[in-house]
Amino acid sequence: IIAHIDHGKTTTSDSLLAGAGMLSFEVAGKELKLDYLEVERERGITVQSADVNMVHEYEGKEYLINLIDTPGHVDFGGDVTRAIRAIDGAIVIVDAVEGVMPQTETVLRQALREYVKPVLFINKVDRLISELRLPPEKMQEQLLKVISGVNKLISRMAPKEFRDQWLVNVQNGSVAFGSAIDKWALSFPWMKQNNITFKDIIDAYNKGEDAIKELMEKAPLHRVLLDMVVKHLPNPAEAQKYRVPRLWLGDLDTPEGKALLECDPKGPLVMNVTKVMMDPHAGEIAVARIYSGTLKRGENVYLSFSGSESKVQQIFLWKGNQRFPIEEVPAGNIVGVSGLRGVSSGETVTSDPNIAPFEKIKHIFEPVVTKAFEPKNPKDLQKLIIALKNKEREDPTLRVEVNEETGEILVSGLGELHLEIIEDWLRREQKLEIQTSPPIVVYRESVSKVSPTIEGKSPNKHNKFYIHVEPLPENIWRALSEGELPEGRVKKKAEEIVNKLIELGMTREEAKRVKDIFQDNIFIDATKGIVHIGEVMEMCLDAFEEVMKAGPLAKEPVIGVKVVLEDAVLHEDAIHRGPAQVIPAVRDAIKEAMLQADPVLFEPVQTLRIDAPAEYMGGISRIIQSRRGQILEMDQDEDHLIVKARMPVAESFGFTTSLRSETAGRGFWTFIDSKFERIPRELQNNVVKKIRERKGLPQIF
Ligand code: GDP
Repeated sequence: IIAHIDHGKTTTSDSLLAGAGMLSFEVAGKELKLDYLEVERERGITVQSADVNMVHEYEGKEYLINLIDTPGHVDFGGDVTRAIRAIDGAIVIVDAVEGVMPQTETVLRQALREYVKPVLFINKVDRLISELRLPPEKMQEQLLKVISGVNKLISRMAPKEFRDQWLVNVQNGSVAFGSAIDKWALSFPWMKQNNITFKDIIDAYNKGEDAIKELMEKAPLHRVLLDMVVKHLPNPAEAQKYRVPRLWLGDLDTPEGKALLECDPKGPLVMNVTKVMMDPHAGEIAVARIYSGTLKRGENVYLSFSGSESKVQQIFLWKGNQRFPIEEVPAGNIVGVSGLRGVSSGETVTSDPNIAPFEKIKHIFEPVVTKAFEPKNPKDLQKLIIALKNKEREDPTLRVEVNEETGEILVSGLGELHLEIIEDWLRREQKLEIQTSPPIVVYRESVSKVSPTIEGKSPNKHNKFYIHVEPLPENIWRALSEGELPEGRVKKKAEEIVNKLIELGMTREEAKRVKDIFQDNIFIDATKGIVHIGEVMEMCLDAFEEVMKAGPLAKEPVIGVKVVLEDAVLHEDAIHRGPAQVIPAVRDAIKEAMLQADPVLFEPVQTLRIDAPAEYMGGISRIIQSRRGQILEMDQDEDHLIVKARMPVAESFGFTTSLRSETAGRGFWTFIDSKFERIPRELQNNVVKKIRERKGLPQIF
């Protein structure tokens, strides 16, 4: 189940669980069974995705459904991204009043990118009646608006071959609408079969509780939604036929390739770990989707990325937060596994070390804040490193680097709150006393105009390279950062990349000359007729990548730049055009070109949601504005205030404390989104100066 925050995932999951007899029907919607972490309760939002295996009867047959409720926000480690790898279909929930929101788009994009088919549930329809008092026609109009909003996204982002097939459709029942809190839902086929009209729904709300209950009995949410799931979402055997070629890196003609395509329980074991949880009793538990074979307790398995061997100790199924041990589970299911030593999320686990792994799971958010962690007591150093390294395996958006010589530990995360939660966890759960350095923001460099052509001369003066740089067109940049084009040096046969670039507006001539895609930057070899160019190309690309890792402004990573090698003069003799000659010439030319292309610094900017009693509205606006922030939306629900705001990460430090003091401890904030944005021109030089100072670089301004 995927959705924008607060559109009702958890409430819907609860109603589904209740329907499947796993939760008392009365408490569903109040209990929020899937929100099981303590932090979640405190914050009232879903943090980790929980997994449930449940059975649904449809047209006289029983179906097993593996359900994951994904978190509605992202500060806790890209859970949505990874959960999506485990599933074949998704219920997209959209609030009937709010409609499609930014995160609806984000999560839907992630699903479609992994070939996960969507169906739509429009939730909170009760609000259209009780709050907006819409008559039947207006209500239909509003629902159609939501549907066309979702379909617009699907037709834009779905894989080409499914673009039309996967549009949601009222007539065929791939759209449902209802109220998760009142536990009813309807689809067009269900309305027809049971003679229910829009007017009946409105009447029910006008009559009161008993009539709503009756509606719930006539159109129980779990039946309508799970019928839709069984009917419209593919089963694993169907889905793996198109998902495996896209997600698995091996050869489809091998026995394991065939078993994966068929989802064959008799094939070799291949599973993909989508999450790792540390359990106080069972140790580390990996949540994994089995793609082929049958997982058996006690068997030996291989971990592809870490290259190690382990023994499967226990296998679990879940009912909400309860775990049940089981002896074996066949392909197509999502299970918990203990005993896999050193497992991290994204890992491929197989019964044979020669089987190829799954593609790495690409995350949409990167760590942008770094702090140094240090134990108060030096003898806890090892313990701290181990705890953090374990956490890193659970949470791939956390980065832990240890300097072996100095023992300095640098921890990077998605924001201050992300790191605060880690600190808190170390203190509370690991009983480690630690101190941390002030946070450091990670920036990006780019350029804002086309540079003149720069000549780069090799130290021996015999080789010359003519290079210019320019900003990448917006849509190509976006495609790169969303992982639509594979990173890396382009091999000879790269029709797919060339076609994609042409589709994005590049000329065929230029697209064919792309030599390297590196960290959202592109290198183009536009030279013509240079005899030895092929022999120095790898060195040119080394130099290119070096500059992209550490740009000329402040040695921060570079993004969104197109580097064009226009022409070159090369020495006849290979001895005089080795790496020591070529690399500095190309590197210096790219750097100089960037400096002459109006270089810009990008800073991470977060979108936050702030919840507080309404009386603090003035104070909240003030602290947001004082931090270069901007209020995007302000909603008041009786006396509860919800503010959505954007704020540069660099200005967000200490925000928790000032929010608390401004709201007498009653306000809290959560992270919605983060992206890099151009730093205001008047601040740029100063920030560059400070970064250079911190890094011990000579000043350039
Ligand atoms: P999540 O963040 O997507 O998991 O959303 P939740 O399930 O936690 O719901 C967010 C808020 O919306 C809670 O206050 C719910 O009580 C409320 N909510 C959920 N479903 C409905 C619904 O059908 N109607 C109304 N009026 N409120 C709902």
